[in-house]
Amino acid sequence: MKQHARVVVIGGGALGAGLLYALTKEGWDDVVLLEKGELTSGSTWHAAGLIPHFIGGLSMAKLHQEGPRLYKALEAETGQATGWHGCGAIRLALNDAEVDWFKYVKGILDYVGSECHLVTPSEIRDLHPLLVVDDVKVGFYTPNDGHTDPASATNAMAAGARLGGATIYRHTQVTGTRLLDSGEWEVSTDKGTIVCEHVVNAAGSFAKQIGEWVGLDLPIVNMEHHYLVTDNLPEVEALDKEPPVIRDPKASCYYRQEQKGILIGPYERAGAQAWGLDGIDWSFDMELLTPALDRLETSLEHAAERIPCWTNAGIKRVVNGPITHTPDGGFLLGPAEGLRNYWLCCGASIGITQGPGCGKYLAQWMVHGQTEINVRDMDPRRYGKWASGDYAIAKSIDEYQQMYQPHLPGEYRDAGRPTRITPLYEPLKNAGAVYGDTFGWERAKWYAPKGVEEQYGFRRNNSFDAVAEECRAVRERVGLTDLTSFSKYEVSGKDAFAFLERVCANRIPAKPGGVVLSQMLTELGGIEGEATVTCLSDNHYYLLSAAVAELHDLDWLVQHVNSDEEVQIKNVTDDFGVLVLTGPRSRDVLQTLTDAGLKNEDGFTWMQAREIAVAGIPVRALRVSYVGELGWELHCPMDKLGELYDALMQAGESHGIQRFGTYAMNSLRIEKAYKGWGSELTTEISLVEANMLRFARKSGGYIGADVVEQKKRDGVPIYLVYCEIDSSDADAMGNEPVLDGEKIIGVTTGGAYGHTVKKSLAFAYVNSGYEIEGTEFEVRILGETRKARVLLEATWDPTNDRLRG
Ligand SMILES: Cc1cc2nc3c(=O)[nH]c(=O)nc-3n(C[C@H](O)[C@H](O)[C@H](O)COP(=O)(O)OP(=O)(O)OC[C@H]3O[C@@H](n4cnc5c(N)ncnc54)[C@H](O)[C@@H]3O)c2cc1C
Repeated sequence: MKQHARVVVIGGGALGAGLLYALTKEGWDDVVLLEKGELTSGSTWHAAGLIPHFIGGLSMAKLHQEGPRLYKALEAETGQATGWHGCGAIRLALNDAEVDWFKYVKGILDYVGSECHLVTPSEIRDLHPLLVVDDVKVGFYTPNDGHTDPASATNAMAAGARLGGATIYRHTQVTGTRLLDSGEWEVSTDKGTIVCEHVVNAAGSFAKQIGEWVGLDLPIVNMEHHYLVTDNLPEVEALDKEPPVIRDPKASCYYRQEQKGILIGPYERAGAQAWGLDGIDWSFDMELLTPALDRLETSLEHAAERIPCWTNAGIKRVVNGPITHTPDGGFLLGPAEGLRNYWLCCGASIGITQGPGCGKYLAQWMVHGQTEINVRDMDPRRYGKWASGDYAIAKSIDEYQQMYQPHLPGEYRDAGRPTRITPLYEPLKNAGAVYGDTFGWERAKWYAPKGVEEQYGFRRNNSFDAVAEECRAVRERVGLTDLTSFSKYEVSGKDAFAFLERVCANRIPAKPGGVVLSQMLTELGGIEGEATVTCLSDNHYYLLSAAVAELHDLDWLVQHVNSDEEVQIKNVTDDFGVLVLTGPRSRDVLQTLTDAGLKNEDGFTWMQAREIAVAGIPVRALRVSYVGELGWELHCPMDKLGELYDALMQAGESHGIQRFGTYAMNSLRIEKAYKGWGSELTTEISLVEANMLRFARKSGGYIGADVVEQKKRDGVPIYLVYCEIDSSDADAMGNEPVLDGEKIIGVTTGGAYGHTVKKSLAFAYVNSGYEIEGTEFEVRILGETRKARVLLEATWDPTNDRLRG
């Protein structure tokens, strides 16, 4: 066995083999895969092999294109067949919410170029004559879908990897991974040890156990999943061609032809079972689980209504095997928190589909330091410690049971919640807060009148009027919201200023009290992170970033400290509670609770911070506002948050203070044309495309500066624009295609209704040439094209007078 390799991949399933193949395509050939059994002997060998294009996110839709593309091409490249059947697929919609979901997803697939059609029930019958479609409203037809033989497809990727120079050791069990002083990884096996630069955990059902060796607690839960294969059926034999794969939300089942019978795969809606929660014996290999058909009864009854002919046949095979699930149903792809060059490629619940795409994008990440797609929804660091244990189990079971149901905007299902709350959770709930969770934190979306529940959907919903009121309070009087969920770090040490000037593109304040907003860029100029940086004292900084970025940004900062720099970075997220007090009367309210001067004349101007006492509580007060009004973020010790909140509410009473939630905040921020990290600002683009050059230090010297300068000189093919849309019932949510006639020329990144300016507003990336003020194009929202025009400046207070007031 080799003693040294650039990369060691642990696990030879669809994900491990997909990555190994892709690494060789990116030019790394000193790569090794270790598999304790045969290739595919985990979950891969017994999968049903369905390969769908349908998926509700833009990056995921791009990733899903890789499976069919590769599985069709591999035989010619390697001589190894993959068992590809290009029969297409249809997903059924039975109610209006599902129809809207399909329209939304169609926009995504149209944008990325995956062929799809919305088809009528009679067209569905033409494509699949065995189906009962009485209750079907519409079908989502993806003609280029299909299914493959998972074992052959994985072996073909392995063959391709070998041709590219990779080495695969089968029957070699990894028994430990250890970080050496040199920064390399030592991988121990039952056949010897290998030292490598990069180690990848692609161990499927065993990934959690392998992660524990290095202190990770991965939120991966193995779910039992069945499929049944019927005996041959005369009705299937009589078909003149293989019908499309069907996905049926009522039965929560997939159906496809298997030889001359039918394969039925139910995702039970209740009673789904997690497996192996106490650990899995390493000897589990090429094995199945005991079938539990009683759990499938309801699904199978509905399946019999959908395709009645299969009930005449015997069942020739029942497969029950483990599938890895995570709390949001997505896989874990990317760096493991806190560990340099330890990568995760695991947690996939449809890994046969996703193996090639996971491989492609993780290989890009490992080799080039960034990917060509936005990977924030895949990054393992979207989960923290809060996500493991009971939360992971409850959420994964729920995800599994909801596998074929739409994820409606605004809907945060109850399973596993609450997990991360502030001392204000109960008081705000009693005041009507309707909560959603972000990075585990419960945050009020809006405040509902007593007895009113939010009606989720893709269009404006019953929160609309209440949110309009919350916006009015902020614009005309004063609003209060709990934003404790901000990620917070302290950066200190002799070289803190120099370090931040290198990592951040903006000028870093050297004087205490200075506050700036800055992006952090990759070497290739992509926007990796964004933080508000406050100088507390000489070489002592307080950084704030998005809730979901807590571990991502921490890693980014920690891993960019040079060995010769004296810099300490501390995650203080849980130490501080944060209240945002904002609106034209916010100064009057705050002044009643503090002796500190709050006026411009006192030097407390916009983008300044002071450590002051508010109602006797020590507070870091930052004069900043994401909603574009006079206002302060008040950061206090977490245990004082309740006291501070009570004092502010009491002081604000005579000024008409009102609580507001994240829906109002989104409406207010988009009126100010403020861009958000993760939606508008992603690694795919630089400050040039984002039209944010004013945040790039002219003197340069920051990471990514050369690329920014070069793009500035050469121009870029796409630009971010701010636009208004003629829409009266639904707003852009992000991922809607932007069109010039029939031609797709861009995609939205986010949007909302601006309650103050009474416009539907959005951000979109459009091809160069369409970014000029007043340019008209169309945005297709839920299947309807709506006129839109480019705006040059914010629709609310473009000169920032209110912020400066
Ligand atoms: C019944 C069923 C039907 C399914 N149908 C579909 C479908 O239609 N479409 C689809 O896309 N997906 C489907 N799936 C899901 C799919 O099977 C999984 O998502 C996919 O196989 C996961 O691949 P993986 O590489 O992550 O894990 P695995 O295939 O489990 O591979 C992990 C590998 O790591 C090895 N390993 C573990 N520990 C060690 C160690 N210490 N040393 C060395 N090697 C180790 C294991 O032996 C294993 O081979 C189905 C799953 C089931 C159970």
